[in-house]
Amino acid sequence: MTAAAPVSITMVKKRLANGEPCEKCAQTEDMLRRRGVWEQIDEVVWAIEGDDASSGVELGRVHGVEVAPFFVLRFEDGSEEVYTSGMRLLRDHLSQPRADTSASAKPAGKAPDAGLVSNLASQWQTLEPGEIVRLALERFGERCAVVLTGAEDVVLVDMAVKSGAPFRVLFVDTGRHHAETYALIDDVTRHYGIEIKSVLPASDELRKLLEEKGQNSFLRDGHRECCAIRRSRPLARALDGFDAWIGHQRVGRELESPGSEAVVEVETGQAPESRGLVRVNPLVGWDNNALWSYVRKHGVPHNELHDRGFRFIGCEPCTRPIRPDQSDREGLWWWETPPASDESSEPLGEGI
Ligand code: SF4
Repeated sequence: MTAAAPVSITMVKKRLANGEPCEKCAQTEDMLRRRGVWEQIDEVVWAIEGDDASSGVELGRVHGVEVAPFFVLRFEDGSEEVYTSGMRLLRDHLSQPRADTSASAKPAGKAPDAGLVSNLASQWQTLEPGEIVRLALERFGERCAVVLTGAEDVVLVDMAVKSGAPFRVLFVDTGRHHAETYALIDDVTRHYGIEIKSVLPASDELRKLLEEKGQNSFLRDGHRECCAIRRSRPLARALDGFDAWIGHQRVGRELESPGSEAVVEVETGQAPESRGLVRVNPLVGWDNNALWSYVRKHGVPHNELHDRGFRFIGCEPCTRPIRPDQSDREGLWWWETPPASDESSEPLGEGI
């Protein structure tokens, strides 16, 4: 038995060509879950049958492993150790609580450390968005959600479907979307045959806001309070238990923190539940032309409000159509003075 406790454990699972996980991998995961130690597995990457470039196959090549599942343990001194038996791993390393090896050790179920995220960001920065989506789903497995809020996100759903990896979709339902947006959600559900989980505001927080300030407090007090209650905090709560989420940065953050986008980053949102999550932004390198050319080429369902001049589509009272010569700000929260540059944005869920 290795005396030292690992600082991270990666499980490599095999996915068959038909998209199903291999039975032994599923059984091993089930065993670890039943023993209550699954949260000690930091990440899951996939070895996809017939895809030599998949992350799991690559890890197998590096470590000379030809079976699945297997586990790669990393230690503080930089060494690595491979286990091909879940039971042996359980006996040697998972029966005791993991050592807290640093002051910034992440809580169970949260994302990898900032160093790993920074490495991913530099490795993925130049890849095509579809490739980034595939790699993110392979690396974070079912603990990665696609967050659906606008036209860009449907593109991400399309890429996730094409990746063949399992994924979950969350829709942030503020309760104030346009009717056309709710129609789009139904359309996407049918088009891809997927389930979309609606994320709703907490009823007590919403009731308090409405009772104290009415329906349209954002017109007087600015959008932040309402957005926090209807969007950011509900999404943060819904992402509790996930390691990563895939979304877009175009709305809100792009307006308020232009140039701040990275392909992968550690979530630093105001909602505590979200901090430490990995946020994957595959579309940061795309402009509107690239986005809409993908939508047209792949027949991706889109919100018909875009055809009526909406550049951004969020809540009905806060977004409106604009002419090509108008700035983005004219179409979103236009009654507000643009925030000062030192005012931080609300990263999680700031995109509509
Ligand atoms: S976009 Fe407007 S209505 Fe929607 S949550 Fe934000 S402030 Fe509230």
